[in-house]
Amino acid sequence: MSKAKKFVALFMALALTFSMFALTGCAADEEEPETTEGTTDEGAEPAAEEFVLVEEGKLLVGSDTAFPPFESMNGDVAEGFDVDLMNAIGEKLGLEVVFMTEIFDTLIPTLKAGGKFDVIASGMTIKPERQAEIDFCDPYYDSNQSVVMKAGSVYNGPEDLAGKKIGVQSGTTGEAWAQENVPDAQLVPFKNATEAFSAAAAGNVDAIVNDLPVSTELLKEDSRGLEIVAQIPTGEQYGFAVSKDNPALRDAINEALAELRADGTYAEIYEKWFGIAPE
Ligand code: GLN
Repeated sequence: MSKAKKFVALFMALALTFSMFALTGCAADEEEPETTEGTTDEGAEPAAEEFVLVEEGKLLVGSDTAFPPFESMNGDVAEGFDVDLMNAIGEKLGLEVVFMTEIFDTLIPTLKAGGKFDVIASGMTIKPERQAEIDFCDPYYDSNQSVVMKAGSVYNGPEDLAGKKIGVQSGTTGEAWAQENVPDAQLVPFKNATEAFSAAAAGNVDAIVNDLPVSTELLKEDSRGLEIVAQIPTGEQYGFAVSKDNPALRDAINEALAELRADGTYAEIYEKWFGIAPE
């Protein structure tokens, strides 16, 4: 081999070694994080991602607190099925639960915007349109709709409400049902259920479409001359909801909820507010 050829061979060998080294180094760099993550044992829990909270140590809850027996204000203290359930969830997570009163209609946009509260607990029905905007936790209550009118009114079906004034709560499934099912409905929107019921008692609206368990509760002690004239089996399910940016909070709430169902706390709270055992 001539000197020149030897030089070329040596150069090529060096270049090859160098490039292999560079490649290996590169590959090792890229693989490193994967190797660390991959060390989790088979069957071991993957490290849970941390959830984000508006205020450290607190679970701030947005809620339309005029919706008994799910949430209502007793003086300045929120009470109800959702309140007890959220408090029990907070206890499991080591967080102080704080209910904040919001208009139902504003709950989803406010949660989405962030910075005010972490979770919605407001007898909110899980619906595909809402699921496109926020993340629901597992269902915690089965519900239906109801039609409420002055006692003794004739109601054989939605056609009997044609052209009548129907009180609904803005942004609810009751409003959606009336829009879809009552021909020529004259819908009168209210900011919450209790205001709609007062209007019906005063004769300012002819009927109300509202979640059945809430209508039952609102008429229980004082019917104010109103009655539930129909139950509408819409087959709704309520769910607590969190921001789509906070899936770890959804998972933590679901885990707590499953534990509360398993240890009997859920049934205890259910019986306290509805007087019967959950199905
Ligand atoms: N369940 C109904 C809905 O989600 C009403 C909820 C409420 O008024 N708090 O639309």
